[in-house]
Amino acid sequence: MTGSKARLAIELSKLKVFDKPDLKLEQYPTDSEVAAAALWNASMNGDIEDKVVADLGCGTGVLGIGCLLLGANKVFFVEKDHEALKILEKNLKSFRCLGEAEIVEGDVEYFAGKADVVVQNPPFGTKQEHADKAFLERAFATANTIYSFHKTSTQNFVEAISADHGFEVTHKWKFSFPLKQTQEFHKSRIKRIEVTCFRIHKSGNLK
Ligand code: SAH
Repeated sequence: MTGSKARLAIELSKLKVFDKPDLKLEQYPTDSEVAAAALWNASMNGDIEDKVVADLGCGTGVLGIGCLLLGANKVFFVEKDHEALKILEKNLKSFRCLGEAEIVEGDVEYFAGKADVVVQNPPFGTKQEHADKAFLERAFATANTIYSFHKTSTQNFVEAISADHGFEVTHKWKFSFPLKQTQEFHKSRIKRIEVTCFRIHKSGNLK
């Protein structure tokens, strides 16, 4: 069990990330400080400890492993990229005293499990249009409480699609995401993008 947000960020910073990120799949690991801050908020809301969590598009696992460190009972790690899952397995082995971890290899579209909470930092849909929509729809079918990262500029879309599915946005936390530059000529600059972590909860009111 991890006793402070700073400690959690340190633990998460030790995880291995993608060897060769597949840009088509928008493989960017969530920065450990950002992941720790978002998961800490979730934990303070009573949404992690003793819960069953689904980490959709888990990549190398920073969000789901953070949940296990914060006392989740079980985490489903759902990911379609086999290489990312190999790294996830190494990451899981590097921590002791974890709750149950179940790896589900495949497209999130076909994930049929149920959980109390979904955590996800999905593709933002810049390479595959509507990738973020597919993740949100799967999240609505999986859990009543969802923590999902999206570009801040798409906030209206996130709120509207949530309402369409009988969910509502209850909290928003803004982050500046550090993105590693891939182009040589940008190497000296750290690019940041404005991202919001949304807490979305089932309201039961269908439009
Ligand atoms: N959640 C991780 C990774 C974020 S990058 C983190 O926070 O660090 C987005 C991840 O979604 C990548 O690992 C990518 O391979 C995965 N992904 C993209 N589309 C997917 C799909 N349709 N089904 C399952 N995983 C997918």
